[in-house]
Amino acid sequence: MTDSESTLIILGGTGDLAARLLLPGVGKLLTEEPDRRILVLGSGRKQWSDDQWRSTVSEAFSTVDAHGAAVDHVLSTSRYLAVDYSSPEELAGLVREAHGKPIIYFALPPGVTATAVKALQDAQLPEGTVLALEKPFGNDRRSATELNELVAGVVPESQVFRVDHFMGESTVLNILGLRLANRVFEPLWNRDHIARVEIVYDEQLGLEGRGGYYDKAGAMVDMLQSHLLQIMALIVMEPPAELDAADFHAAKVQALRSIHLWRNDPRTASRRARYTAGTVGERELPAYAGEDGVDPGRNTETLAELDVEAANRRWAGVPFTLRSGKAIGQPRQEVIVTFRDVPHLPGRLNGQNRPNVLRLNLADGGVDLGINVNGSGHPLELQRTHLSADVGPGELNPYGEVLRGMLDADAMLALDGAAAEEGWRIVDSVREAWAGGEVPLDEYEAGSNGPQWPRP
Ligand code: NDP
Repeated sequence: MTDSESTLIILGGTGDLAARLLLPGVGKLLTEEPDRRILVLGSGRKQWSDDQWRSTVSEAFSTVDAHGAAVDHVLSTSRYLAVDYSSPEELAGLVREAHGKPIIYFALPPGVTATAVKALQDAQLPEGTVLALEKPFGNDRRSATELNELVAGVVPESQVFRVDHFMGESTVLNILGLRLANRVFEPLWNRDHIARVEIVYDEQLGLEGRGGYYDKAGAMVDMLQSHLLQIMALIVMEPPAELDAADFHAAKVQALRSIHLWRNDPRTASRRARYTAGTVGERELPAYAGEDGVDPGRNTETLAELDVEAANRRWAGVPFTLRSGKAIGQPRQEVIVTFRDVPHLPGRLNGQNRPNVLRLNLADGGVDLGINVNGSGHPLELQRTHLSADVGPGELNPYGEVLRGMLDADAMLALDGAAAEEGWRIVDSVREAWAGGEVPLDEYEAGSNGPQWPRP
């Protein structure tokens, strides 16, 4: 794919996201697709020189071993401009530096993003300008609606790319292939055959120097409200006719609209905890409350669990549990679909009536189906065995995948405005209950596997 007419403008180019995820995504994409030619314009409030910026880009590229003609082109043409994001004139000046269609990527804290979008209201943006907005999109349903209205005043919805980089994870998109391209799963993919679903994203990482951001978000906003609900939507949605933005977004929004808290009660449907000091692998972690950038009085959770239901014909009555925690000793990142027991087991089949369990590994894409067979011993003795497949990583990293969509004007992997608002609708009452102290904040030792609470 050749694209000689795009400019990626990074607002917040001096930040963590740009260096650690976004620029490596650019590098990976351009390595895979060396015919692309894009201009990368960095910007920030710091007075950096072009050389300083290019060495940031180069360092980020080296983390993914980026190479080739398209990469060299970026390294030799990329520039940096210091910009005040509240100034319409300075932002307009930055956009004027673009060649062809600009993608304005807001790699900024949410409050600064809103200021910059406001400052773009009256700018004469080139035809086809894309606005790429990071999560969290707002900080509750009301602010997400307001941000949607603001953005709608700048470009049409088809040019808004709300980024949830989990949608660019091949291991997450795997859910689509598994569901839609196999005859054996879709007929069983409903309340008649599935007893429960868990979506778990427990990781070893602690704060990694991002306390200032994380303490204002916590696991519920950082992971469940965004990424895990999006994964749930892929599991719950009706199969779209086409995997294009229109059909895929409509199916996903319809799924999200059906989701509500289990029994509609935030006190029983949610659980929270934060880690105390401990050892994760080889690393000593201090207690979360003592980490840099953390205000212990804010009671931010580092592990959150939520029980929800998709109240529709296909899923009513099936509990979905979403869970994500930091500083976990044995991390698990997987979707676990537990099927119902078979209705009758003939008496001569000796063994337990154990449900089939389908596991999708979100870290490596592996698929595992636990099944019961007559074992190698007595011919009617049941044994548990597994049908497993290794899948492996996708050709791009998630940010490379998301950027490819932006450059090719394919918004399938973006979130549409309604999806961003629905994510907040589902969790807003939980956050209110937590702020009111209605759900206890438990503790777990860093390096342990976190609390194991009863579930529906
Ligand atoms: P940073 O705190 O590293 O800051 C990002 C950029 O914003 C920097 O260029 C910083 O400039 C600039 N900035 C901060 N405050 C202001 C201000 N008041 N006025 C002007 N510029 C300002 O954030 P991240 O890079 O971590 O995150 C950026 C966005 O990406 C956030 O919305 C975050 O939620 C999202 N995100 C981040 C991820 C990550 O792993 N970092 C993962 C997924 C999403 P300066 O260098 O001068 O401070």
